[in-house]
Amino acid sequence: MNKIKQPDPSHFWAVVPAAGIGQRMKGKRPKQYLEIRGKLLIEHTIERLLAFPLLEKIVVVLGQEDMCGPELAIMQHEKIVLAPGGRERAYSVLNGLHLLSTDYHVQKQDWVMVHDAARPCIRQCDLYQLTKLLSGHAVGGLLGVPVTDTIKRTSKQAIITDTLDRSVLWHAQTPQMFRFGLLIGALEKAMDEQVTITDEASAVEYAGFRPLMVEGHNDNMKVTQGADLALASLYIDQQAKQLGER
Ligand code: C5P
Repeated sequence: MNKIKQPDPSHFWAVVPAAGIGQRMKGKRPKQYLEIRGKLLIEHTIERLLAFPLLEKIVVVLGQEDMCGPELAIMQHEKIVLAPGGRERAYSVLNGLHLLSTDYHVQKQDWVMVHDAARPCIRQCDLYQLTKLLSGHAVGGLLGVPVTDTIKRTSKQAIITDTLDRSVLWHAQTPQMFRFGLLIGALEKAMDEQVTITDEASAVEYAGFRPLMVEGHNDNMKVTQGADLALASLYIDQQAKQLGER
């Protein structure tokens, strides 16, 4: 007999790390305050998360010296809560998670979505896909796209040592969505043990869990270098046109 799948009763929360200073952009302003099509990059990102109805609160983590972010109209939205940034991305995320656990009734089994402020092109369909495929999952997972280039490993002197099997390689993106208690535990363990992690999934993997990879889209790019702004602008334009055609 087929077992009927019960809906996942957990609540959904989000943390948006936005406390980076964007050194790689070499600009005066942190990258989240650069403009794309008449709006700030961070406004595009937060608007897309606000449009996703499952999220109860969105914690935006801002740099301690950031005077611009708290003044933005979008930050006054009832679903938005602000938290102070840390010296690395992982500490910023932890600050956001701690705020959720002290100020809101977040349960260990609830889901928390961590999404980079610097990824303004996230699609609603990918947010739905992530929550749908992870429903009932014990750990969590993340959006990613399969690697299409051939990937080489080299020595420090750039001498090729081997070619990796790209059929099992993915580019990791955000959102990365995990059970709340599990993610806090994994990030704290990684920080305590001074392990370098560049995303939430690596902390979760280090703690011995196996997250799920969920296929998203290439346009969910991270704005890192100056040239990325033009590409993000093109994607946002294209997405708006596709929506208009429906
Ligand atoms: O530096 P990177 O591109 O990996 O940053 C990814 C995201 O993490 C950005 O949205 C950035 O603002 C955020 N971040 C943060 N706190 C830090 C460093 C980065 O919230 N200390």
